[in-house]
Amino acid sequence: MMMCRRCFGALALWAVMAAVALAAAPYKALIVDGQNAHDWKSTTPVLKRLLEETGLFTVDVATSPPRGADMGGFKPNFAAYDVVVCNYQGDPWPEETKRAFVEYVNSGGGVVVYHFACAAFPDWKEYNEIIGLGGWGRRNEKWGPYVRWRDGKIVRDMTPGRGGGHGPAQEFQLVVREPNHPITRGLPKRFMHVKDELYGWLRGPAKNLTVLATAFAPKEKGGSGEHEPLLFTVRYGKGRVFQNALGHTAEQLKSVAFIVTFQRGAEWAASGKVTQPVPDDFPTAERASVRE
Ligand code: ZN
Repeated sequence: MMMCRRCFGALALWAVMAAVALAAAPYKALIVDGQNAHDWKSTTPVLKRLLEETGLFTVDVATSPPRGADMGGFKPNFAAYDVVVCNYQGDPWPEETKRAFVEYVNSGGGVVVYHFACAAFPDWKEYNEIIGLGGWGRRNEKWGPYVRWRDGKIVRDMTPGRGGGHGPAQEFQLVVREPNHPITRGLPKRFMHVKDELYGWLRGPAKNLTVLATAFAPKEKGGSGEHEPLLFTVRYGKGRVFQNALGHTAEQLKSVAFIVTFQRGAEWAASGKVTQPVPDDFPTAERASVRE
């Protein structure tokens, strides 16, 4: 086939740009959604964009059939990805899909558990171990302890009671409890988040769990009166799991506290390291910041 010089030039430029794009995005991410008592249809596109704008990820989305429909054909190829972002809460996955997910994490896959994904699959033992702490779905003391920060250390509290809850949406301050983790390294010790649900009373097996940041949930604002873990990691087999309890709707995903911890957490889950600098608009101890 003959090709004019200009066409050839355009093709060559396209090839170079494609190669640059590939080189610039070393990790493959998969967002799983399709059912959720939350508005997953408006949050997934934001999560996708936040991952892509780091230049580190190409992003696919696996959307399950709707609630009550046959899930038999829902078989995302988890093994093809470096990180799976869970924005799913709903009907159980097929056994084959559950096995593939556990095998993916066990063999070194990364997972980001976003907000209400901590309420998914209460009766799936391995999922509870992978996410470390969860809420709702009848969870109670049989699922494991509450994990709280008391008197300068992490405490596992077996007091009977519900798993999962929150008061009315409020602004709150996150406090870094593990400043030497790649996700939190370089962040200020204290930083504000926008008006959002402050998740509390999460409980689960909490094995191999590292609390990165907590927020105090005042009783007078519907909270537990405890420092609740909102950012934490779990080691499951060779896999890295990061849970980010922030972000009730797309509005809360404008919070730079969410954006930066989500982006850094996803990179860490995918690779075990974080190369992203802390941006200049990161919130302070007194003031939340947002990106429109
Ligand atoms: Zn919510």
